[in-house]
Amino acid sequence: MNETIETIVAAPVFEPGHVWLAGAGPGHPRYLTLEVADAIGKADVIVHDALVSDGVLSLATTAELVFVGKRGGKPSVAQDDITGLLIELARKGRRVLRLKGGDPFVFGRGGEEAEALARENIPFRILPGMTSALAALASANIPATMRGMSRAITLATGHAAGSPGDLDWKALAKTGEPIVVYMGVSTIGTIARLLIEGGLSPETPVAVLMAATTPDERSLTATLATVEAEVARQKFAAPALIVIGRIVSMQAVLSGGKP
Ligand code: SAH
Repeated sequence: MNETIETIVAAPVFEPGHVWLAGAGPGHPRYLTLEVADAIGKADVIVHDALVSDGVLSLATTAELVFVGKRGGKPSVAQDDITGLLIELARKGRRVLRLKGGDPFVFGRGGEEAEALARENIPFRILPGMTSALAALASANIPATMRGMSRAITLATGHAAGSPGDLDWKALAKTGEPIVVYMGVSTIGTIARLLIEGGLSPETPVAVLMAATTPDERSLTATLATVEAEVARQKFAAPALIVIGRIVSMQAVLSGGKP
């Protein structure tokens, strides 16, 4: 049988009273998966974060949109309130699409929300999305892995860098493998210092990839020694990813220059 987009997305069926926890990808709607694009059209209500772009939301022509993200300096909606809302909407028999930037299980609290739904016996599914790191690396011509250069890639959160109980950045440095840091713009100085203390050269190349795949996309390259100052000088802000390691040097090669 020849598959069509309709037959591909025909099953599973989005039932009333179910919650689908989905990833909207990095920003541009072209990176939606077929099933997430289809679910946007089938949902009764879409509960979304700030990272879900206007381009993606513009595909929602029939669903009610509920914003639960952080915007304009206002505090974000408490996680318990979000899960409470999902449960309440599902119990009312709505088809609830919980839409998050990137992939819902990569620094997206999707695990916590799924856990709450499981506890309350609300039927749910996880619909993966393209995590922003993979899209941002592709957009910047930086291979996520490169034979002869890397054997692993770490996706880390920089959110709590330097706080007690945070990741062991010095141990990550010792692997010598590339690291992609989510939520690290405000802590990049601390991260760079810890990685240098852990043995990485201050000359290690670093790329900062901001708002990848959106009209605000920008990137800069620096080194571990200079990245904090460059981020401040060029006024980079969230959402941005920080890529640390030799793979960053491939950008110049793939963009027609020399490493
Ligand atoms: N679940 C998401 C990550 C949520 S955490 C995912 O899989 O991508 C929020 C962080 O993701 C941001 O602080 C930023 O580091 C990163 N991020 C999300 N979208 C991005 C984009 N378009 N460009 C750069 N970074 C992005």
